[in-house]
Amino acid sequence: MEKFTAIVLAGGTGKRMHSHIHKQYLELAGNPVLYYALKAFEESDVTDIVLVTGADEETYCQREIIEKYHISKVKAIVPGGAERYHSVYAGLCAADGADYVLIHDGARPLVTYDIICRSMEAVKEYHACVAGMPVKDTIKIADEDGYASMTPERSKVWQIQTPQSFSYPLIYEAYHKMLANEDSAITDDAMVVERMTNQPVKLIEGSYSNIKITTPEDMLIAEMYLKHAFENPRDEKNEKKLK
Ligand code: C5P
Repeated sequence: MEKFTAIVLAGGTGKRMHSHIHKQYLELAGNPVLYYALKAFEESDVTDIVLVTGADEETYCQREIIEKYHISKVKAIVPGGAERYHSVYAGLCAADGADYVLIHDGARPLVTYDIICRSMEAVKEYHACVAGMPVKDTIKIADEDGYASMTPERSKVWQIQTPQSFSYPLIYEAYHKMLANEDSAITDDAMVVERMTNQPVKLIEGSYSNIKITTPEDMLIAEMYLKHAFENPRDEKNEKKLK
């Protein structure tokens, strides 16, 4: 059977949150932010989970999240690095033996069973796929002086989320190549594949609620979405996610 490994990233310091507690450990509706993504993958059909934490946070995560919430699919907890792409590479090394990886920001607590299912189906077909949604606002590209220099056609612009899912050999080789000539402009995994390989990256449907916790108001928005989902368990999968 094919092996799908979720790599959940929690190695950031979340400077834009202005909190002494890293954002992935802040309490959201009674549980740490990181708990929600781990729980979603635990209850999905992925084979196992690699958790990437900050240096020296492995024991904290093991005790306070993995053991406390009985997350049984975590096969490794590894320290990340200075940039997100260093953390992803640490996760990829620990995911050795996987056929496919789903790379997910631990700061996105609202990932659902359905998004994970869609990612698993699509990566088998396309080898590289990322969750996202078409933008609702018009987007403008600014020049150095803060003037609008270009307006891309809105129907072609997507906001990109995670999971970002790949065939393991493809993403491992792409990262390996990128790190040989480190490219600090990298902000997501698809960019590494776009720059280092000829593999097209398919955009698949995420959800507008699959937000990343970045600034304090995101906690309020995420709490509202969680409360809404709890009060409106639309289907069996949603109920399963919220148990
Ligand atoms: O900083 P940003 O919000 O883009 O981080 C996205 C995700 O990547 C977060 O879940 C964060 O914990 C993780 N990250 C990481 N290692 C870093 C930076 C970010 O694992 N060095």
